[in-house]
Amino acid sequence: MDKILLSDATEKYFPNAAGPTMRLATCMFTNSPDEHFILDSLSDHPQVVVGAGFSGHGFKFSSVIGEILADLAIDRGSEHPIEMFSLDRFD
Ligand SMILES: Cc1cc2nc3c(=O)[nH]c(=O)nc-3n(C[C@H](O)[C@H](O)[C@H](O)COP(=O)(O)OP(=O)(O)OC[C@H]3O[C@@H](n4cnc5c(N)ncnc54)[C@H](O)[C@@H]3O)c2cc1C
Repeated sequence: MDKILLSDATEKYFPNAAGPTMRLATCMFTNSPDEHFILDSLSDHPQVVVGAGFSGHGFKFSSVIGEILADLAIDRGSEHPIEMFSLDRFD
């Protein structure tokens, strides 16, 4: 497969924006084994709440994730159906 450079596409479609590269950074994200979130408390230490493994799609859910994590920390549970995000699904 041919490699398509971002600069080539910029020159083609946005020629007025095709300037020199100012800065580059490698971005990494953590994938869970099934690429779904982990939203849970540790069974041995329920005071520890885990929000992790967002697998490249956590940002758009940040408001509800924050709500769920706060509920887990304060109420030890959530009204949202979060079973599919449990830690023990990997057991
Ligand atoms: C290139 C890229 C594109 C993405 N695109 C999308 C998208 O289009 N839509 C979407 O919904 N999601 C997207 N995501 C995923 C989204 O950004 C993540 O799911 C979300 O940011 C995860 O939030 P977080 O708070 O768990 O972790 P992070 O946002 O990574 O925050 C963790 C924070 O902890 C800090 N930290 C780490 N170690 C320590 C330490 N020892 N002490 C103190 N602080 C520490 C870090 O500096 C960082 O600020 C993308 C991610 C990447 C990398």
